[in-house]
Amino acid sequence: MAGNWKMHLDAASAAALAREVANRVSRAHHCDVAVMPAHPLLPAVARVLDGSSVGYGSQDISAEEEGAFTGEVSARMLLSLGCTYTLVGHSERRENHLETDSLVHLKTARALQAGLIPVVCVGEKLAEREAGQTLHRVETQVTTALKDLGDGISRVVLAYEPVWAIGTGLTATPAQAEEVHEFIRSVVGSLYGAAVADGMRILYGGSVKPDNAATLMAEKDVDGALVGGASLTAESFAGIVNYGD
Ligand code: PEP
Repeated sequence: MAGNWKMHLDAASAAALAREVANRVSRAHHCDVAVMPAHPLLPAVARVLDGSSVGYGSQDISAEEEGAFTGEVSARMLLSLGCTYTLVGHSERRENHLETDSLVHLKTARALQAGLIPVVCVGEKLAEREAGQTLHRVETQVTTALKDLGDGISRVVLAYEPVWAIGTGLTATPAQAEEVHEFIRSVVGSLYGAAVADGMRILYGGSVKPDNAATLMAEKDVDGALVGGASLTAESFAGIVNYGD
């Protein structure tokens, strides 16, 4: 269960939110829990979360190892701050920063090479869904992002996030989510075999809230959630993490 804090909060409010999240999910043993603050907030969050059951990661990573890449943040920098995870290819990066499927692949490979767990985001836009292209679009994204990852594939986490459901209050129905999750698992199976596909964690993202988490998580191929807006208060994020209580 991962919380994407996007470009919200500051050092003090991020530390306070992290503390409250850690307190409220300390008995959640059914899943891994992580938060993704903006890069400058990572040290403040790390100071609170180190030693707790809540991991943390970044919202993006450079595809480059090091060098003259102004504004970019490297895997090594993230590791030195204690990150375990990084989001890769979030739709807001694809949309606002023109990230391509190929760049998402390079970032995924870079994260794995450095020892980070990439949470690779895929999902169709509304026009693609309406044109009946959802599975085709997702297949292209998954196949490109995951190509030639070798043994690293076993550490990849995928997140299916229909773009039309992010931040809109619209949620895929459990059946819509399951259709795509099952398909993604079959694509991973054809690339890397059934054992890898069965072991892969596939998160659903798109307006997940405490009141819809349980029905989404009940689906066979929905293994967790990537949460945006509802991760900004500890009460709602913990309500999602602890959906079975
Ligand atoms: C996200 O940003 O990954 C996301 C799913 O956002 P929200 O939960 O706000 O739709």
